[in-house]
Amino acid sequence: MAAGEPHFVIIPLLAQGHIIPACDMARLLATHGAIVTVIVTPANLTRLQSFSALISTSNLPIRLASLPFPSTAASIPDSCQNVDLVHSPDLFFNFFLAMSLLQTPLLEYLHGQHPPPTCIISDHFQPWGMNVARELSIPYLIFHGYSSFTLTAMHTIKNHKIYQSLTDVHKPFIIPGLPQPIETTKAKAPPFFYEGTPGFEKLAQETIMAEDTCDGIVLNTCSEMESYFTQQLEELTGKKVYAIGPLPLANKDAASKAARGNKPSIDESQCLQWLDSMPESSVVYLSFGSITHTVAAQLIEIGAGLEASGLRFIWVIKESELMAAPEVAKWLTEEEGFEKRVEGRGMVIKGWAPQAAILGHPAVGGFVTHCGWNSVMESVSAGLAMLTWPHFADQFLNEKVVVEVLKVGVPVGIGKPIMYAFGEEMVVVGREVVEKGVKCLMECGGEGEERRKRVRELGHMVRKAVDKGGSSFENLIKLIEVGSKKLMKPT
Ligand code: UDP
Repeated sequence: MAAGEPHFVIIPLLAQGHIIPACDMARLLATHGAIVTVIVTPANLTRLQSFSALISTSNLPIRLASLPFPSTAASIPDSCQNVDLVHSPDLFFNFFLAMSLLQTPLLEYLHGQHPPPTCIISDHFQPWGMNVARELSIPYLIFHGYSSFTLTAMHTIKNHKIYQSLTDVHKPFIIPGLPQPIETTKAKAPPFFYEGTPGFEKLAQETIMAEDTCDGIVLNTCSEMESYFTQQLEELTGKKVYAIGPLPLANKDAASKAARGNKPSIDESQCLQWLDSMPESSVVYLSFGSITHTVAAQLIEIGAGLEASGLRFIWVIKESELMAAPEVAKWLTEEEGFEKRVEGRGMVIKGWAPQAAILGHPAVGGFVTHCGWNSVMESVSAGLAMLTWPHFADQFLNEKVVVEVLKVGVPVGIGKPIMYAFGEEMVVVGREVVEKGVKCLMECGGEGEERRKRVRELGHMVRKAVDKGGSSFENLIKLIEVGSKKLMKPT
């Protein structure tokens, strides 16, 4: 038998926190001999300019296939091609509908491809990928952007029917079936994908069916971090789990680290030069990912806390947050304003930051994060301890991994989920708490030093996991075999 040419088709959820790991996964697969097609839409393709340029200069066999966004058929503005562009919760149903309507055009596109696709890896939020794979008679794998711990916890909570008897979403309970007692609430560990949300029943059912019938699950994690929970997940789902992370480590140099997601709003080399001038491990990096929305009053508390801490820092504020709060833009830049006061020790990035490149710089010493799983993996990969500030979705369970399982983070102390908060001027964390939190994160000696030592060691281990012979490397090879089987033919 001779193996055929593996051709993976990756269907990410149209959100930066899913498109970025999809591109990282594409790089990994392509550098190990597979052809990879990543499915996006025109507005998302535009955002991937840097990645696109990089793959063409490095001659990697990655295709970015842009299918027209079916906005008219799904009754959604054409501008809403990414979760961070959907500004009203009322449009989420239409957004998911639009993505599912990509099924027929994708099949048409794939029928014309050479070599033909041999495996579909579809995001958990894109369960219709299953139909494409079945139509082409090729394996179908799910990519979950969650941690093994989070998935295990969600499965055990569901299997123990915890939520069926729970009336208070803020009532604490111990997650069943875990090797250590870990407490959460329903609000902090919401059921899988819109389960129980009126209007989303069919989509929720499809995601369950997709997981039940898939040929395996691909995760951005590794044995060195979550071996126990990955095994648990395999038992709970009966599926082979391909833990191939940390995916950001697919990018070795600063240029490829900076080419992830949107075009950075600052000159990446200028930013890295600024970091070059700072002492080792002295800078706090603060960013809440791609979709959280921090309101003006909270931004000012964050700034005031950072200022009072006296620490060096890089603080990322989204363009959309500044547009919604012109008073903050003024507060930052006015004469004797925030930026003037922290000049020389603080940098504010307004817009998209080259996050992975920044975290990989030796001057960075800690990360204040909303606990999006990509950010957690990037932090661990760089050997950086975290101050955890979860907002919603899986972020509170990820916080548990960071703080209680791996013990590489300290919580800022968020009581209840913070949703999009559009229109609400809600301060959740005051300046004194921010100041105390970042000082604790960067503390020399004591617990802070212990945490840093642990995460440095973990960082070393996870970097080895993706190298030849490491656990994630071996899983990647097995994954590529899945994509090669279809074309096995007699020699
Ligand atoms: N990111 C970035 N620059 C930014 C904001 C986000 O590079 O200014 C990247 C970040 O490195 C991560 C992804 O966007 O890879 C965000 O994913 P995560 O799971 O951390 O959070 P989400 O955005 O999904 O909430």
